[in-house]
Amino acid sequence: MSSVLDNAQPINFYRPDYHIKTPAMRSPEYVQMSTAAAITLGLIPGRMYRTACTHCLNLLVTYPEGCRANCAYCGLARHREEARDYADRNFIRVDWPAARYDEVIERVRAGAGKGQFQRMCISMITHPNSDADTLVLLKKWVAALPHIPVSILSNPTTMEKADLIELKRLGAEIFTVALDAVTPAIFERTRGKTVDSPHRWEKYWQAIEWAAEVFGPERFGAHLICGMGETERELLEVCQRIKDRGGHNHLFAFFPEQGSLMEDWPAADRGQWRRVQLARFIIDYAGGRIERMTFDAQGRLADFGLPESELSALIQSGKPFQTSGCPGKDDEEISACNRPYGDSPPSDILSFPFALNEMDIDGVRRQMIGKIKKGLLNHNG
Ligand code: SF4
Repeated sequence: MSSVLDNAQPINFYRPDYHIKTPAMRSPEYVQMSTAAAITLGLIPGRMYRTACTHCLNLLVTYPEGCRANCAYCGLARHREEARDYADRNFIRVDWPAARYDEVIERVRAGAGKGQFQRMCISMITHPNSDADTLVLLKKWVAALPHIPVSILSNPTTMEKADLIELKRLGAEIFTVALDAVTPAIFERTRGKTVDSPHRWEKYWQAIEWAAEVFGPERFGAHLICGMGETERELLEVCQRIKDRGGHNHLFAFFPEQGSLMEDWPAADRGQWRRVQLARFIIDYAGGRIERMTFDAQGRLADFGLPESELSALIQSGKPFQTSGCPGKDDEEISACNRPYGDSPPSDILSFPFALNEMDIDGVRRQMIGKIKKGLLNHNG
């Protein structure tokens, strides 16, 4: 069982009273959801380390035959279909249990999450029914819970521009593209023909362009994974490109998912991850630009292009190290989508699902030094 829980109770996801895992489980009647969402909804017992709930209800379309793509880092990839039942696979790091969609809506309506859901997100997969079922789920949500905005984590491979227009018309607020890999070569080797997967770099960028046009500034974003062989510079060049189009960047640290083709890869380097988190925040929210940053010969950040006092204040705020995703309603720099422990265990947090305390910030500063100025260790800049 995932270490997302800080109580020692074993959880049986397959007890019939949890309505989880039936052979006929498929969207739009059923959806999968993050463990954090299932706990917050009260569908499964458990508590999350230092956080009471997730502020974004992350849902995933589900089919017994699974995702037809084969991304090398993903727990839902096709090559794992012999391994075990589809509904039993992880998506990213933690389990994604399933439940009836009507029950999910009812629970939110009845006050599950104590009104703390600021957003709902539907993740699509590569499946012939995924596009149509996403529209059904969206329509139903908007009719039942119009005060909670919806994000779509799209599957560009099966979509055309008309699909984005329809999603917008039906009430989707934000459209995101899981580009994940930040160079054409890494994309090809992790999501393309090399691994017998149908995705194409050009189609993903086409979807980002459509999103910028259809959904507009601040209403689209890209998911990017740090630690799949790219340099810091390469990842930040993509961040700048997305920002210049009017979007935001949602970062994920690479986590070697057991049973995936990349299960033997090392997890994201901590120093690289912290530097990229900070630089991404500077690009997205602090008015910085990649042209003002400097990099060494290996493409590692050497200077963030901000005066040291500003840089230190940003670090001290802790915000750059919180989970990045679609915004909440209180502070646009803080993501509603806090994905508790989606890319690391509570014992070594990479994306903080809550505001950092002094000890957390000290830890982050220590992970970051090496390639940047020693002054960053000093709280007063
Ligand atoms: S398309 Fe998405 S769900 Fe399917 S294998 Fe790739 S990353 Fe996983």
